[in-house]
Amino acid sequence: MLRRTARVLLGLVMTITFTLGGAVLTAGPAQADGCYTWTRTLSPGATGNDVTQLQIRVAGWPGYDSVLAVDGSYGPATTAAVKRFQAAYGLAADGVAGPATQAKIYELQDNDCTPVHFTYAELNKCNGTWAGGAVAAGTAKANALSSMWKLEALRHALGDKSIRVTSGFRSTSCNAAVGGAANSRHLYGDAVDLGASPHSLCTLAKQARYHGFKGILGPGYAGHGDHVHVNQGPSRFWSASQCGI
Ligand code: ZN
Repeated sequence: MLRRTARVLLGLVMTITFTLGGAVLTAGPAQADGCYTWTRTLSPGATGNDVTQLQIRVAGWPGYDSVLAVDGSYGPATTAAVKRFQAAYGLAADGVAGPATQAKIYELQDNDCTPVHFTYAELNKCNGTWAGGAVAAGTAKANALSSMWKLEALRHALGDKSIRVTSGFRSTSCNAAVGGAANSRHLYGDAVDLGASPHSLCTLAKQARYHGFKGILGPGYAGHGDHVHVNQGPSRFWSASQCGI
């Protein structure tokens, strides 16, 4: 989302004005966003960074037991994810990311590109920087952003009630301080721990299987009786025996 003043200013910059017989007509992009603005409708077969930007934002809608490849290529999996996103938000589910779909995404993102219901600060309760983990700071932060879009999808699918993040990125020292595994995905920035209330832990663990997470641990798995852990990979593991998964 963009503050109104900034949106008006950007609108002025991006609007082309024509004068025809005294009448002033305007044309140009109807939308401008503080984070990212698409300049074309994206359809199956499209490639490019603008497709990558789309994929990051619809990666939470890959379907059950699936992970959407963020590869800049608008193939069948991206089409299917866009359709699920559109259906979830009441748009015509045609699998094409045109103005209505793009406008919905603008509504859903803050100027720093995080989805509206999650923040970088929420995903980093360690020391405020993204350094000191298992990957470069920029990579850890990008991984956290990717996780947040999946959490936004999970949140929406569960009725738009809040989801409580209890831990996200950890530096090596933060990870050691909380007794995290030495190879924890929290060191990569793509792992998030979720607390109960308003949703039960089992509701979170089960629904998370539809939103692009590769690893899910919850009640029944050692050390996960009070939270659900979700992460993005590289390996697939689900274990929450008390929830039946
Ligand atoms: Zn965890």
